[in-house]
Parts: sequence; structure tokens; C-alpha cells
Amino acid sequence: MQKQNPKKDKSYLFLGIFAVLFAVFIARVIFMDTGMPMLRPRGDATAQQTAAKAIEMNFSELLTASNAKQISKISLRDNIATGELNDGAKFRAVVAYDPALLSKLADAGASVTLDNSKGWMDAIATWFPILFTVLIIIWIFRSVRGGGMGGMGRLTQQMNPTKIIAGLKKKTTFADVAGIKTAKQEVSEVVDFLKHPDKFKKIGARIPRGILLSGEPGTGKTLLARAIAGEANVPFFATSGSDFSGIIVGLGVAKIKEIFEMAKRNSPCILFIDEIDAIGMSRGRSTFNDNDREQTLNQLLIEMDGFAGDSGVIVIGATNRPDMLDGALLRPGRFDRQVYIELPDMAGRREILDLYVKKFKMGSGVDLQQVARGTTGFSGADLENLLNESALLAARENRKAIESKDIDEARDKILMGPKKDRKISAKDLKLTAYHEAGHAFVSVHYRNVTDPIHKATIIPRGRALGMVQRLPVDDKVSVSLSEIRADLSISMAGRVAEEMFFGRDNITTGAEADIANATYMARRSITMAGLSSKIGPVAVNQVDTFGHRHALENASEKTAESVDLEVRAWLDAAYKDANAIVSRGRKTVQKLAEELLKRETLSREEIEEIILGKKAKK
Ligand code: ADP
Ligand code: ZN
Repeated sequence: MQKQNPKKDKSYLFLGIFAVLFAVFIARVIFMDTGMPMLRPRGDATAQQTAAKAIEMNFSELLTASNAKQISKISLRDNIATGELNDGAKFRAVVAYDPALLSKLADAGASVTLDNSKGWMDAIATWFPILFTVLIIIWIFRSVRGGGMGGMGRLTQQMNPTKIIAGLKKKTTFADVAGIKTAKQEVSEVVDFLKHPDKFKKIGARIPRGILLSGEPGTGKTLLARAIAGEANVPFFATSGSDFSGIIVGLGVAKIKEIFEMAKRNSPCILFIDEIDAIGMSRGRSTFNDNDREQTLNQLLIEMDGFAGDSGVIVIGATNRPDMLDGALLRPGRFDRQVYIELPDMAGRREILDLYVKKFKMGSGVDLQQVARGTTGFSGADLENLLNESALLAARENRKAIESKDIDEARDKILMGPKKDRKISAKDLKLTAYHEAGHAFVSVHYRNVTDPIHKATIIPRGRALGMVQRLPVDDKVSVSLSEIRADLSISMAGRVAEEMFFGRDNITTGAEADIANATYMARRSITMAGLSSKIGPVAVNQVDTFGHRHALENASEKTAESVDLEVRAWLDAAYKDANAIVSRGRKTVQKLAEELLKRETLSREEIEEIILGKKAKK
């Protein structure tokens, strides 16, 4: 989104002054030889050039004249003396600076003037290089930090102005946010609180202090935060986590203090911190400037803890890496409310497109439902970009409205562009649908053995192209061997389906996480839980959370080898099992995949209806 920088106007003034100074400086250099005394070496060279007008005296001549009381006026400037003799003749002399000389001259009846002033040109000539250097340094700092030329505020402000977006612009409201209904509902309570704080306080409800919005870039986190402020009619202050880490050590802490001060002065208000992971990354994750960042994070925690319950400041953080955040940030009283903004599903995309139809002129032939269907994985920002690109294409051909072909062309352009890893081509989408259908089908097969399926989707999240979610029936304390076998088969089913429907040559790396998980599960069961009859009830190994085997400390080479073989055997068995199940249900898996392609997300009920028929519904 566009962030306003209120200091922008001042920077023109700043540049203007700079330009004038520069022009003067240039003029000075050019006209240096026309007799202005300031820039050239004082002394003999000057003396000879002005000799035509004034008598040039040396020091002893001057003293003689003085002793003879011939001097009526004398003016001293630096080591040049100029003056008039009694007969009106002008003179000039180079003198040594000597206080005694002054009294001697005065005693001799001369009127003595000391001229310490320098011409303004002179001042500029002296100060310009210094000013110039300072400006260059500031400019370098600012460009390193990604800011523009700023005003003359405090150091912290000058380095990274907090963007204040207040009532001047058109207010953002919930009506401007489409397609993310759940997230909107989850934050609407906050609006209510900001509007009627007393209502909440009276019942003793704990007031939210921090909300963490997480989700892919462009899903509308900033937009939603602004809409909360707009709906509640309170000021909105926006800043970004990356503003806090910089070259200047300690700047982050100062800046945090400053913005919280400002927020408290303006409460009730929303303080929005974009990219909060830049400050709130869990300790030890970032590689540089760690100490400074940690201090900044601590300051943020202190400020949030320090809020009195009724401060009325609500801090909204945004991140697309919630998994990277330091746990301390998520404790009660801090960002204790988390709202995940999903990439919009088909209906959501349709809503967003409908919203933008008001902004872009659409030809009558454009079918927005069709566009929504063909843009799996697009965020709200991507959809806006898609329409914008389409409008550009239409404008290039001097047409008045966007046509379907513009949208197709723009879509291809975006899909093939640099961000294509996030957007999904039709081919990948199809493969993902079959992959997830495989997982889903085997999940339903084992519904009475292990956790039943919750939903299947081909909308990407993070690095995953799609997923099948299963939810446990109740809290589990232990897992049985048959559950583990079923889970392993379900894990393998994605790859199995890829191979069955697309051929061995077309299987993908998309199954990487499945295979890693399955391997970890099998190895752990065998080496730590004693679930393998071949290895027996022995804790052979300590496995770390990544499934790495550091050293087989408790095992002989021979045991290690049999563990490897046993893990392999379990995984092979799981693959064969999944393969048998999927090939028996080939038609149904295909049907599931087609439905997924059509609807993107299928609920448990929908999946069971496809696989088991109507009878499952009761
Ligand atoms: P984020 O902060 O999650 O990266 P932004 O809020 O900055 O995303 O979104 C960028 C722009 O994309 C918004 O200003 C808006 O124009 C558009 N946009 C994104 N999501 C939505 C949405 N759900 N509804 C309407 N417009 C959206
Ligand atoms: Zn998978």
C-alpha cells in the first residue's frame, strides 16, 4: 500500500536552499579573479593588484608614518591594514597582529577600526564545504536506509519517519476489504472496543492490546489494520519493523520509545507495525546486529507490558512469518490475539474482483467468475495488479474497457514473471489436485484408525502447494502402531497418486515434506519408542527434531544398519499399502481431484460424500 510521508513538502524547501547555496558557490569560483578579496590568499599578491589605488606600505613604513602622526584613519582586518593618511592618500599594509600596535596607532591620533566581520559570501565560502559534506553524509545514511530526503526533525525521525496516516485521505473501512470474511469478523470486536470502551470495562473484560495479523504478502493485512482505525474513527499510525534496525546502534530503542509516546498522546488509536518479524524474530535466528535487535525487541515488550489497561492504544503487528516470531511476543498482554489471513478462495477472489470493478472499466464480455476460477493462489494485491495490467493492455490498444483477452494475457504475464513460484500454473495445479486427492482418499480409508480428515485444499500456504488437514478426535497422549502405519500410508498417498496418474517421470519434489515427515515418524517409532519387532524395545538413538541422526551413540554399526533397513522397510510397506488403496479407488480419486480443481477446497463432508456416497452423511 501507499504510505504517506508528511515531510515530503519540506524536502523541497531543503533542496531549494541547497540549490541556491550551490549556485552561489559556483558563482564564487567563476568570479574568483575579479577582485573579491575573500577567497584568495591574503598578502602580497592582493597588495600588488590594488596598488594602483592605494599606497602600498611595508610594516616599518607604517610604523614610521604612525610615529610621525601621519595616519588619520586605520582599519585592521586580519593582517591587512587599510587607511587614510592625513593628506587624504589611501594606504594599505600587511601587518603583524600585535595588540601593542593598536595602542600605538591610537596614541598617535589615528582613528582605529577593527573589522572582524566577514562578507556573507565569505561565510558561505567557508561553510559551504562543511555543509556540503554533512548533507552528503545525511543523504548516504538516508539512502542506505531506504528513505527519501526528509525534514529537519529529530534524529530518529529524520532517519526513518513514522508514517502518520490521519483523516486527510479518504477513510478506509471494512467495505474496502473483501474476501477475507473470517479475519474481518475476528477483528470487529476490537472496533467495538475502540468505540465503546466503557461497555467492555464495566464487565471487566480484558481489553486487547496487541493483534498479530499473519498471512501471505498482499492479503490485505495493512488494509485491514487501516480499516479497523477507519471503522472506529481513531488515528492510524503506521511504521515498519525494518525501520527499527539500522546502522545506528540504539536507534531502534529510541524509536520504539518515541512512537509509543506518540501513540499514547493520541489514544485511542491504532499503532500498526508492519514486518514485525524484523524486530520480533526469535533470538538467535538473525545473523547480524543481534544485540541491537534484541534490545529493540525488549523495548517493544516493555512498552506493551507498560500499557495501563485503559491506554486505548491497540498495537497491530503484521508478518508473513509468524513461525519466526519470538514466543515472548505472543504471551498474554502482548500480541495475544492472532488472526491468520488466508489467501482468498474462489468466492473470496470473486468478492475482491467485484470490489475492483468499480475502479476498472470492464467490457461486457468479461466473466468475473471465470477470472476468479483461474486465479488460484492470487492475493488481493495480486488481483488488483492483474486488473491494472489488463487495463494497461486495453489502453495500449486504445480501447475503453478491459476485455477477457486482456485479463488472460495479464495473467500469463504475472504467472511467468519473477513471482511465479508463488502463483501456480494450470499444470502444477492439476498435479497438486491429484496429490491431495491421494492423501484425502487414503485418509478416508483409515478414518476409523487414525485422525479423520478435516479438509483438503489446493490453495497454497507458505511453501506448500496444497494440503490435507486432519483433526484429532480428542487429545492424544500416545499413538498406536496401527495409527502410525495408517499415518505413514496417508503421507505416501500424495506421491503415489502423482506416480499413478502422471507417470514415474513426472513425479515432483512437492512430496518432499511428506517424505521427510514419514521418515522422521518411522525412525522415531523404531529407534525411540521400541515399536519395531526387528529392533525390539530398545532406545537405540536420540533423534533431533529435524530427524537428523547425529551419532548412533547407543548403537553398534550393525544395529545402525538394521535400523536403516527397518526404516526403509516401513516406508516401502506404507508406499505399497497406499498404492494398493489408491489403485482400487482410482476412479474416485480422479473424481476427487476434479472436484478440487473446480472448488479448490473440500470439507470433510464433501469429501466423504464423493468417496462414500450419500450414506456417509447420516
Ligand atoms: P499486506 O499488508 O498483507 O501485504 P496490503 O494490505 O498492503 O497487504 O495490500 C495491498 C493492496 O492490495 C491493498 O491496498 C488493496 O488495494 C489490495 N488488497 C489486498 N487484499 C485485499 C482485500 N482483501 N480486499 C481488497 N483489496 C485488497
Ligand atoms: Zn503431500
